[in-house]
Amino acid sequence: MSFRFRACGLSDVGLARTHNEDCFGIDAEKCLAVVADGMGGHSHGEVASRIAVQSIREYVARRVETLKAGDNGSGEVSDDLEAHSLILAKALQGAHHHVLSAIQEDGSLYGMGTTVVGFLLRGDTAAVAHVGDSRAYRLRDGKMELLTQDHTWVNEQVVAGYLSAEQARVHPLKNVITRALGGESDVVVDIRELEVLDGDVFLLCSDGLTTMLPDPDIFETMCREKGLEEACRNLVQAANTRGGLDNVTVVLVAVEGELPS
Ligand code: CA
Repeated sequence: MSFRFRACGLSDVGLARTHNEDCFGIDAEKCLAVVADGMGGHSHGEVASRIAVQSIREYVARRVETLKAGDNGSGEVSDDLEAHSLILAKALQGAHHHVLSAIQEDGSLYGMGTTVVGFLLRGDTAAVAHVGDSRAYRLRDGKMELLTQDHTWVNEQVVAGYLSAEQARVHPLKNVITRALGGESDVVVDIRELEVLDGDVFLLCSDGLTTMLPDPDIFETMCREKGLEEACRNLVQAANTRGGLDNVTVVLVAVEGELPS
């Protein structure tokens, strides 16, 4: 079975901020979705998240074209699946270097950075890569599963057993990120591969959603709607109803199986 990629996204400044430092990108042809959440003084977070999304889109588009050009004509995917997740991981590392280069070129941008979460579908496998506290979830069979581990101080405390997930969600230090694009000279990207099934829905989001809404409420809001656009709107609205203290960005990806014609 081959799989069709359908996605939509929405980003909102929220109720408390004057700038939207989040950014998202969708390339339906390349089956790519990205969410980035920028940080830095003035409006520099916006610069960082835009550079990251643009850089990832361009890298993936280039590499996927190269792979297609290498097809053996049988219509089968000629690369191995490792190559597919590596493309996404390298796209995130490339974005990190683009953010660092922008800082080197313009010293006033010093201190800017961005989180990022990316999703790339190829064949029956999805690659999910992230740095920072932007998240990916999967909805399947009426259950929602978190696919990423936040690179935050509070999450380290959760993993070590000192805080519960709910305590971490509202902790005063919840914004302390331990990994970001544009930070240290090197960045470690977390990457995983998942086999997809017909009907899977993936949510990529910035922490403006997850700090406002606990997971069960995100799940309930997503289940209420069948349409992706409406579900995006409902998620953003729910985050704003709970306070809207941060920019909120959501991207929903629906994976639909198609029998070969
Ligand atoms: Ca944020």
